[in-house]
Amino acid sequence: MFNRVAFITGASRGIGRATALSLCRAGFDIVVASPEIERNEEVAAEIRACSGEAMTVNLDVTSLDSVKEAFAKALKDKSRIDVLVNNAGIARDGLAVRMKQADWDLVLRLNLDGAFLCIQQVLPSMMKNRWGRIINISSVVGQAGSAGQANYAASKAGLIGLTKALAQEMASRSITVNAVAPGYIATDMTNVLPEDVKQKILSSVPLGRMGRPEDIAAAVKFLASEDAAYITGHVLAVNGGMYM
Ligand code: NDP
Repeated sequence: MFNRVAFITGASRGIGRATALSLCRAGFDIVVASPEIERNEEVAAEIRACSGEAMTVNLDVTSLDSVKEAFAKALKDKSRIDVLVNNAGIARDGLAVRMKQADWDLVLRLNLDGAFLCIQQVLPSMMKNRWGRIINISSVVGQAGSAGQANYAASKAGLIGLTKALAQEMASRSITVNAVAPGYIATDMTNVLPEDVKQKILSSVPLGRMGRPEDIAAAVKFLASEDAAYITGHVLAVNGGMYM
């Protein structure tokens, strides 16, 4: 019996790292993919320390060459990719009236185009195997909007549309495509927020705390499992109740 292989983008930190560790404990071999090879290696070492299998690839999802190279390397080494977690993402916040074109372009290119490019790399092998799980990390902001985040909200809402279209295209091959929409999660991405903004966000969370990366990893692990075989085209909100 083979281990299933999970390829996680942006796995060097935060939600991606927690997802890599969680899927490894669930028996998946992990491909740790992000731009910084040293940080990837640190996560791979953590995985191996709990007896998991990990390989690392350099991946910049804004570069088609890098995407092609990273997936070719993983497929050569592992011969299959069963689970793709499109987690790499950034924010470049600002009010739309003053938003620089470069900030709009970068966020859409990285968060949305990047996920699509990665999906195109895994589909042939998933279709051949007639099994696959694609999990896109969207955001509560893609569902509810957020002032000052037009680019980020558009990219995360775009991921939801992509999820639903692809779920319909791929269902006949037993490939499920779902999104997870986190609320506010304690990672480097949110650590930079001023304390008063954090407190304001917290006051809008019925469960009364920020999420942990592990809260998101648990949802991804479920969607990657056999137990989730009949769930596709779904957006799973993991947000402490801040948007229902
Ligand atoms: P972090 O900023 O902690 O980590 C981002 C990850 O993305 C890092 O591994 C980073 O690599 C990687 N990355 C950045 N640029 C690229 C690139 N060009 N190609 C490949 N990988 C890249 O973010 P979070 O863990 O907080 O967020 C993970 C995902 O969850 C994102 O998509 C984010 O939008 C989403 N999300 C987060 C929420 C939160 O509150 N934190 C809420 C809702 C959604 P490196 O270490 O090299 O920089």
